[in-house]
Amino acid sequence: MKTKISLVLIAFLLSGVAFPVSAQTPELPVYIVQPGDTLYTIADQFDLTIDEILEVNSLANPDWLSEGDMIRIPGFEGISGEFIPYTISLADTFSNLLEKASIDKTYFIKINHITSPNELIAGKDIILPIRDAQQNPSENIALENFSSPFLQLSIENTSIWENDFSQITAKVINKDHIEIQDLSINPFPFEQGKTNYIYFEAVPDQTLQFLIDNKRIPVFQYESGKYLAMYGINALSDTGLRELLLQSLSDDRNQVLYSQNILTGDSAFTTDPVIVVEPDYIDPEKTMPEEEQLFAIANNVSDRDLWDGSFSYPVDEPCIRSRYGSIRSYNHGPYDAFHTGVDFGICAANLNIYASGAGRVVHAGEWFVRGNSVVIDHGWGIFTGYWHMQTIDVQVGDIVEEGQIIGIIGTTGRSTGSHLHWELMLNDVQVDPLQWIETSIP
Ligand SMILES: [Zn+2]
Repeated sequence: MKTKISLVLIAFLLSGVAFPVSAQTPELPVYIVQPGDTLYTIADQFDLTIDEILEVNSLANPDWLSEGDMIRIPGFEGISGEFIPYTISLADTFSNLLEKASIDKTYFIKINHITSPNELIAGKDIILPIRDAQQNPSENIALENFSSPFLQLSIENTSIWENDFSQITAKVINKDHIEIQDLSINPFPFEQGKTNYIYFEAVPDQTLQFLIDNKRIPVFQYESGKYLAMYGINALSDTGLRELLLQSLSDDRNQVLYSQNILTGDSAFTTDPVIVVEPDYIDPEKTMPEEEQLFAIANNVSDRDLWDGSFSYPVDEPCIRSRYGSIRSYNHGPYDAFHTGVDFGICAANLNIYASGAGRVVHAGEWFVRGNSVVIDHGWGIFTGYWHMQTIDVQVGDIVEEGQIIGIIGTTGRSTGSHLHWELMLNDVQVDPLQWIETSIP
């Protein structure tokens, strides 16, 4: 093999010109050299050795590839056309990429070293094999049975948000021609520790839910035909891929109306110094009962009959002593905990704690770790919690207004100084509560 390559190189050096591939070589696809490419990166991309590439190419200088050079790629005999570097857009699914490529699934998988369609996620760089135009059947794609509502858009080239990672907006049409319109996700991609808002429009009065990571996320109709779902991801949740499915529960088929794989970004939370507490405060026998009570409370999704969509700070002159999400170790144990809320110091001339939104008091009493504590149910699966209070001024069942005093700041429970720990739970997930002061939802 080596001899042959050397001969080819010598032949080239003598002739001084790159020559086209000889007629007896089988038809092979061509890769167009991109800025920054080297023979090494191209070989790596296609799981080949440099020698294997040199064997089927006659290169003027293998160390000096120019943008636009055509490199024949061995291993795909019988396939003609071009291999194009491509960044997967939000509109893409496995099936629409196959349609775009008009290539056999097996080749597509081989070229991109794919082990599962779930690896095809927005923002990922792949190789899109494009067959020669005359072989391309994509003009006549049958639309009856497409697996993703985005396929049609992609074919129509109406995708307007390729590589836009702030928000997506698209007209989505599902297979049974129930229109889902103007779907937007914010933030996009999803973020650790955040509430991720999913808005869309559809036929009024549908019973819908999202399934994300196999968790049921309720969908609320806030105006006729306008829907909102909120997906909370805690600070320690996995980054990477999440599968998002929108299901219709209007009949017993649980029909999937829309599906897409969405990335979750790393919020890079800071790591706190080791926190040393009395051993009782990290003894599961002592800490778990209230943990279970809290999560049982926060698992309820009640109607939004009180709260107006905005939250306010629970203290006057809010000064933050510790933010949400910092990763924590207690008593030199593993860093497997995170700060589940925001700590406010005392910066105002009073110790008042206010309900940060209207709601119903669902817990008011002493907990071991959280001390004197209050939990308010705001509806739609949203709860706020207030820990380490000196005194509590409300009772379970009370209806409170936004801004109503519910107690005063203290240092009860697992606390080393007077402060208010304030947290927000969404569908039993603790998320960054400050996001809810900046965001007003319909
Ligand atoms: Zn705290």
